[in-house]
Amino acid sequence: MPRFDPPDVLLLGPGPSPVPRRILDALARPTIGHLDPRFVGMMDELKELLRFAFQTGNALTLPVSAPGSAGMETAFVNLIEPGDTVVVCRNGVFGARMRENVVRAGATAVMVEDAFGTAIDLDKVEAALRANPGAKALAFVHAETSTGVQSDAAALCRLAREHGALAIVDAVTSLGGIPVLADAWGADAIYSGSQKCLSAPPGLSPVTFSARAVEVITSRKTPVQSWFLDLGLVMGYWQGSGARAYHHTAPINMLYALHEALLGLQEEGLEAAFARHRDNHLRLRDGLAAIGLDLLVAEAARLPQLNAVKVPDGVDEAGVRRRLLNDFSIEIGAGLGELAGKIWRIGLMGAGSTPGNVDRVVGALAECLGRKAA
Ligand SMILES: *Cc1c(COP(=O)(O)O)cnc(C)c1O
Repeated sequence: MPRFDPPDVLLLGPGPSPVPRRILDALARPTIGHLDPRFVGMMDELKELLRFAFQTGNALTLPVSAPGSAGMETAFVNLIEPGDTVVVCRNGVFGARMRENVVRAGATAVMVEDAFGTAIDLDKVEAALRANPGAKALAFVHAETSTGVQSDAAALCRLAREHGALAIVDAVTSLGGIPVLADAWGADAIYSGSQKCLSAPPGLSPVTFSARAVEVITSRKTPVQSWFLDLGLVMGYWQGSGARAYHHTAPINMLYALHEALLGLQEEGLEAAFARHRDNHLRLRDGLAAIGLDLLVAEAARLPQLNAVKVPDGVDEAGVRRRLLNDFSIEIGAGLGELAGKIWRIGLMGAGSTPGNVDRVVGALAECLGRKAA
């Protein structure tokens, strides 16, 4: 069998995003022992870099050794116990996964539903928290990658605090693309992923937990049902000075890649990275408008890094995506769930968010649709 040589594809879908050469080079550096003091030193730097990205002083900040879904599961299995009630917001595909996590942790999920393509309604959330006094947590998705919608994380975290509930935030697509303010929001658990706006390959899930969340975890009455994701055990590996207790073998080279990606973010600066995502989103919006394509989401709730584009009537949605991939080497995403067949999802995440990429995808779409810029 020949070796596998992947084609060169411009990744403008919902993730993974394009991985810059310097990050790929970091992956190819020599593998050393995961308990080597020099590797442990790199782990400490990585935690510091993640605190910078999450804008937090949280001691418990680390990358879980698995993709974003494992970060999600880490938050739920550690904070939730059987018999708890959790208010879960669902305005897209990922909210439904949060419910699944709550139910499997033996807790009750009280759902707050909003239409796909709209932001989470704060009044409904407040009513649900009022109707469920003693709810352990409020869980929501900050950046819904399935619809391109941003919800008001600051206000949602404030509501959680006012009702004595922990705030669990999915920031998989937000981190590095739009502000994620763990401390200013007063969020208790935030999880993300390496392959969206951080532009590292998939496989790691940065997480951060507040001091209040750590207290909840350390005073649990029941053991965490997942051995691998039990933060009580993971902490022994990622924390403490000097001696680390072996828990699992860290994905060593992937951690080099995340370290390099975060160095890149630090060099660019958070505000500059957010401004770049915003500017290229506006360039895409204008370019699409010029060929008669509209965005699904109302302006105030649009995510700059994930653009849901309405498929015009009579256009073969999947055919256009196939042609983009085969003839132009550009990958974009399809709609999920109730939006399947109705939208394309164009991601401008991390290193993918450049004016040149915007012009390339707009030009290719114009050709596929036989349209000329007005
Ligand atoms: C991608 C994504 C996830 C899941 O991350 P994986 O790395 O695919 O496991 C969870 N939530 C949101 C909002 C996402 O965009």
